[in-house]
Amino acid sequence: MAQQAATKQRIKRIRLEDALNANVWDVDTKPHIIVDSEKCAGCADKACTYLCPGGCFTLLAGKVLYSYEGCLECGTCRVVCPKGAVTWNYPLSGRGVQYRFG
Ligand code: SF4
Ligand code: SF4
Repeated sequence: MAQQAATKQRIKRIRLEDALNANVWDVDTKPHIIVDSEKCAGCADKACTYLCPGGCFTLLAGKVLYSYEGCLECGTCRVVCPKGAVTWNYPLSGRGVQYRFG
């Protein structure tokens, strides 16, 4: 019990936003994510717009816009897309996100 309390004191709590803001990106000029917008037009739920932890997908006037620059390389968009609209590869070796908090 005392050890747990000591461990808790040593762990510095930070907000998720602060942890993500500490990351740095070496953005590849060649996109590692390609989205087929024709398939998106017929997608009812547009799950990518609320499940992407990097906020890379946004809905604007009914259209899905995406940017790969802030991608966290989790692969969620590819997995949740019901239409197979996301072509996903890792960025070239050494490029992309560099995590600062794990
Ligand atoms: S879930 Fe797939 S098809 Fe639907 S909007 Fe997102 S990328 Fe497009
Ligand atoms: S891989 Fe993850 S962070 Fe990158 S665009 Fe897809 S859901 Fe967002």
